[in-house]
Amino acid sequence: MIELDHVTRRYGETAVIDDLSLRIEGGELFVLVGPSGSGKSTLLRTINRLISIDDGAIRIDGRDVREVPVASLRRGIGYAIQSVGLFPHRTVAENIATVPRLLGWPAARIRARVDELIAMLQLDGENVLDRYPHALSGGQQQRVGVARALAAEPAIMLMDEPFGALDPLTRDALQSSIQAIHAQTGTTIVFVTHDMDEALRLGERIGLMESGRLLQVGTPLELLRDP
Ligand code: ADP
Ligand code: ADP
Repeated sequence: MIELDHVTRRYGETAVIDDLSLRIEGGELFVLVGPSGSGKSTLLRTINRLISIDDGAIRIDGRDVREVPVASLRRGIGYAIQSVGLFPHRTVAENIATVPRLLGWPAARIRARVDELIAMLQLDGENVLDRYPHALSGGQQQRVGVARALAAEPAIMLMDEPFGALDPLTRDALQSSIQAIHAQTGTTIVFVTHDMDEALRLGERIGLMESGRLLQVGTPLELLRDP
């Protein structure tokens, strides 16, 4: 469970996150939606401590994230963003295996995990494992980025507009993959988008952000009923 307790983050005088409180349950697929500049990315990045907070507290399973060594915190939290940042001189398989290797997983387990992720993200049958990132389409690169973030089976997955730059068909396919992965693994997912349609399609619960505050939190039905 992720708990944001009166969190404030300022840049200069401006509170980009403004006294915001929110609970995201374990295993939930939660979508943060709001216009560009409303503070979604900032909020997401306070969870894995890429950004520090000025007031309030963030707890994961009851533990303040500032008390957890940053390396071990981030090991438990996958992070996928739009500009994937795949390592250009490593193959797809090597990219996906990065964190499991760091953790010292045995080779056979890594190989099995890479195969499993390739299947989950519908990259099987496309012969991508030994290719380098530049030889992939944009959609394939995004999928590899998501696979890499999921590789070490993080309990929490933070996703920041990971499909933003893709064509609608590729996006639809990837949204379905995310839902399938969520259903199969029970990973807690916090997904950021500025696209309300995407939020309604994907979210179990949705938080509507504006100017660093949550205007509304609810299921897609609740939001549609009471806009
Ligand atoms: P969103 O993800 O909803 O587009 P962001 O979290 O990226 O919003 O940004 C929220 C606000 O914080 C914006 O007004 C942005 O300009 C501001 N901001 C983000 N990062 C910085 C920074 N490093 N310095 C100053 N202002 C920033
Ligand atoms: P998209 O239209 O989805 O961006 P592309 O036209 O870039 O896709 O690629 C279509 C197919 O060709 C994909 O399966 C991709 O992996 C493959 N491909 C693209 N570039 C290369 C390359 N340099 N070497 C090998 N295969 C490639």
